[in-house]
Amino acid sequence: MSAGTDDLAARWAQVRRRVDDACREAGRAPAEVTILPVSKTFGPSLIRTAVALGLYRFGENKVQEIREKSVALADCGIDWVMIGHLQTNKVRDVARLASEVQSLDRLELAQALHGQLQQAGREIDVLVQVKTSNEPSKYGLPPAELPAFLDALREYDTLRVCGLMTLAVHSAEADEVRACFRLLRVLRDQAVAQGHALPRLSMGMSDDFPLAIAEGATEVRIGSAIFGARA
Ligand SMILES: *Cc1c(COP(=O)(O)O)cnc(C)c1O
Repeated sequence: MSAGTDDLAARWAQVRRRVDDACREAGRAPAEVTILPVSKTFGPSLIRTAVALGLYRFGENKVQEIREKSVALADCGIDWVMIGHLQTNKVRDVARLASEVQSLDRLELAQALHGQLQQAGREIDVLVQVKTSNEPSKYGLPPAELPAFLDALREYDTLRVCGLMTLAVHSAEADEVRACFRLLRVLRDQAVAQGHALPRLSMGMSDDFPLAIAEGATEVRIGSAIFGARA
């Protein structure tokens, strides 16, 4: 069941508190970690309630949903963040409607997005999604390809590359999950040593965000813990 509008405020406050606790546990300041509410599958009315709580940035994993919700919520001034696998033939709407893409994982996509952004006269923030687990179902750039990929992205000046994103392995073993997050941080540190500015690490979801925060996440993407279980 999705959260009713009454308890959305309570859930949001509880998630923020748990994130703050995880920060303190990791010896970090709570202000270092942003929460990206993930509103995928939830309808405009619940999102409108979240906007009334002061939230204005929402993660979505389907272009179709961004398209529909940006119409229904046009008056809300929402920043839509694309976090799902993106097909090259759908970049036109993303270039028009998204404020940011966290799932940039191949050069063909960068090229297509850049072309559409140039036409739209826009620039957007992007994170490079890296595949840190061996699960075949997960998308992302293979870690070994990251240095060359970051160098190649310098050519696309409509894409402001701000950091890296990953999904950890789905596992009950905390060590395995944590290793994915650690790998992303190490890759970031190596890229920074190579001269890239990559302040952001988007990693951690409802079930694993404390581990991500312990490994240096600057942003956690939280869906079900805020909005309720998805159908
Ligand atoms: C759905 C989704 C999330 C949020 O997942 P929850 O477990 O509901 O917090 C985070 N990141 C991505 C890429 C997602 O698709």
